[in-house]
Amino acid sequence: MTPEARRIMGLETEYGVQHWNPAARPLSAEEVVRYLFRPVLEWGRSSNVFVSNGSRLYLDVGSHPEYATAECSTLDELIASDAAGDRILQDLIGRAEAALAADGIGGSLHLYRNNADSSGSSYGSHENYLLRRRTEYRRLTEALVPFLVSRQILVGAGRVVPAGTWPEGTGEAHFAFSQRADFVQEGVSSSTTRSRPIINTRDEPHADASLYRRLHVIVGDTNLSEPTHLLRFGATDLMLRMIEAGFPLGDHRVTHPTLAVRQVSHDLTGTARIALREGEASALDLQSHYLEAAHRFVDAEGAHHERVAEVLDLWGTVLDAVRSQDFGPIEDTIDWAVKLRLLERFRERDGLDWSAPRIAQLDLAFHDIAPGQGLFAMLRERGAVRRVLPEGAAAAAVDAAPTTTRAAVRAEFIARARERGMDYAVDWTTLKLVDHPLHTISLKDPFDTALDAVDALFARVG
Ligand code: ATP
Ligand code: MG
Ligand code: MG
Repeated sequence: MTPEARRIMGLETEYGVQHWNPAARPLSAEEVVRYLFRPVLEWGRSSNVFVSNGSRLYLDVGSHPEYATAECSTLDELIASDAAGDRILQDLIGRAEAALAADGIGGSLHLYRNNADSSGSSYGSHENYLLRRRTEYRRLTEALVPFLVSRQILVGAGRVVPAGTWPEGTGEAHFAFSQRADFVQEGVSSSTTRSRPIINTRDEPHADASLYRRLHVIVGDTNLSEPTHLLRFGATDLMLRMIEAGFPLGDHRVTHPTLAVRQVSHDLTGTARIALREGEASALDLQSHYLEAAHRFVDAEGAHHERVAEVLDLWGTVLDAVRSQDFGPIEDTIDWAVKLRLLERFRERDGLDWSAPRIAQLDLAFHDIAPGQGLFAMLRERGAVRRVLPEGAAAAAVDAAPTTTRAAVRAEFIARARERGMDYAVDWTTLKLVDHPLHTISLKDPFDTALDAVDALFARVG
């Protein structure tokens, strides 16, 4: 891949938390995260740390632990770094449960890779893509919205929607593509993440601002399967490439993006008509159009990484499945389809309605990452869900940073500082030893993997 063809990507995951205790009152989310982050506070003296693989682990407002992957420049790195986050949190769950038992509280802790809790609040899965500053940003985000609005039919995580949600007030309980769709409040917006736009335009590049921007996509669901991650990031990256290259994609500007997101999510046929500034189109129409364009683009320009063909294949397979309404070919691949199949089995076996409390429990349990608890994890362990990464890659990513980005430099800096017992302060673009503030290392280039500055710093401070 030429240097120009590379792109930094990162994924932030906010987890839902719950304490379950048959014997006593369950702890509140605030209490749960206090137990969960106790070892983090001991390790890093803060509940906002960069861990040894270069990623960030922190507690934001709202008691949702968040893991933000290190900067990755390949899909494999990204999927592995994200999976490492689950492992890090699983380790914290084990420790917190031991502490709860020691304190005479007991019970079990559950962390969910989902986007909505029973009290109606939503938490996110934020994608980050590096853009070159010269690309006209407004045109890019506008062109991207119709893709993102319809992307859920590919990579939604699936949700059992309670009665009264859609149509608002009158709709019955049903299964929808997306976890997040019903919580989206704006299209392209610069206001804080709290207003939940599709794209957040806050200009915080975490890099040399004269060269780069960071695209911050807020609309996605927290995914579970490796192939779903592959498709989500692989297809979105291809879209960005086409837009950046000025490849003709037509004008599909959506009249009401927040309405369209909901229409798409609640229609498993993919055929609901979405109003465009020029005419109308279904999610299937839009995605088929983008896939066809991506094929032409790749034919003309060549594949820029070794998984492009796989991404295009999977993209086509999902669209065929939605079009034919035969979800069989994607039931071991795509989150919403894996989940729908599982829930349909329970529904048939036990004669359950979508509104049954048991179905809501299973919906939640699907996303649980607590060891031995999650239904998705169980299916994957049984081999019922396809994988992308080679065996051992996720486990290795717990301690090893991506090698193609500055995350490698950050990880090396952290390792050396810890080895020497020196206090340090780190963010995405700087590395600093607390006792040597004048020797701060600046990492404005996210592709820079050179260790010279780290070598020099530790040589100087001994
Ligand atoms: P917050 O979530 O606290 O509002 P934030 O959006 O800056 O702030 P972080 O949680 O710190 O988010 O995560 C930033 C994400 O962006 C990480 O996944 C990281 O790998 C990624 N990232 C860092 N630098 C870049 C960059 N230059 N381009 C694209 N992604 C980047
Ligand atoms: Mg974040
Ligand atoms: Mg963010």
